[in-house]
Amino acid sequence: MPANLQKKRGAKSPPAGDPGWTMVGWQGVSVRVPEEWSPVSVSGEGEAGYLRIASPDTRSLEIKWEETKGSVSVPDALERYFKKLKRTAKKTRHDLRIRERPKHLGSLRPPNQAPISYSWEADRRALGVIWHCGECRRLVIAELVGMLEDDLSLAAEILKSIHEHGEGGWNTWGLYGLAVDVPAEFRIESQQLTTGYLKLTFRHRAQMLVVERWGLANVVLKGGSSEASPERAWRWFAAREAARLSRYRYRANELAWRGHRVSCLEGRERLLPGIARAVQSLTRLSLPALQFRGYVWECPETNKILALTGQEKRGSDITRRVFERFACHS
Ligand SMILES: [Zn+2]
Ligand SMILES: [Zn+2]
Repeated sequence: MPANLQKKRGAKSPPAGDPGWTMVGWQGVSVRVPEEWSPVSVSGEGEAGYLRIASPDTRSLEIKWEETKGSVSVPDALERYFKKLKRTAKKTRHDLRIRERPKHLGSLRPPNQAPISYSWEADRRALGVIWHCGECRRLVIAELVGMLEDDLSLAAEILKSIHEHGEGGWNTWGLYGLAVDVPAEFRIESQQLTTGYLKLTFRHRAQMLVVERWGLANVVLKGGSSEASPERAWRWFAAREAARLSRYRYRANELAWRGHRVSCLEGRERLLPGIARAVQSLTRLSLPALQFRGYVWECPETNKILALTGQEKRGSDITRRVFERFACHS
């Protein structure tokens, strides 16, 4: 079931990189859209996925993908899609007009992806493209849909910007102006979105990565020094997350990074007294060798507090590498 991401209207997110545009990424699929557009529905477990991003008006972008096996015919896949559209149009008694490769869309994808662009018009209209990537084997269908009177002139620019797989073993996940590169083997476990707070949790077996962002840092952290300092973000975070952090034995250092002073936590899972006793009584138990690493900082440029925390295999530096690729402001 697609997760509903309809967020309460709140503080506007800053653009990631390009003013006026933002990056939305999900499960290795990423796309650039105008910054006031937001993801409203996402789904995707394993081999298939779906992403819908809505404009503040009546336009929206839909991207559907599935991993394929064996040989794939893009024209056949498009034909199946058209059949579905025809069935719906018949049921709802609308005339359906379909066109393949409409001239004004031009070439939207690299030729080796065998792309076919199309348009359809019924009670609404759409401009889209279907393609297959030989590298990730994903078959993708993406379209900009709107009401009959809507301006769909952004279609080409948006459809061209879609990446259907990540690069170098990294997937870019992006929502509401937050963009984070996560190793491809990690799957999203949960997402939480409320006004002023965004949390993404990723998991790969026992390893876990949690990215959190709070808005209105200047209000949340008010009092104390007016200047951004690692202590005030860190003290606030430590108090807030006391229960979670109590599971770990760690120490905090400070480091300079992209103009910010970041609190860096390093440690490992604490054995709870009961578990420690149980462990002593078991001879052949292999303990989960997990370590804990975290980064907490305030980004005055975007007025956000950010925290990246990870539970990783002993000796791993995954959380650090995710942190180093992270960009909190452009
Ligand atoms: Zn691909
Ligand atoms: Zn920043």
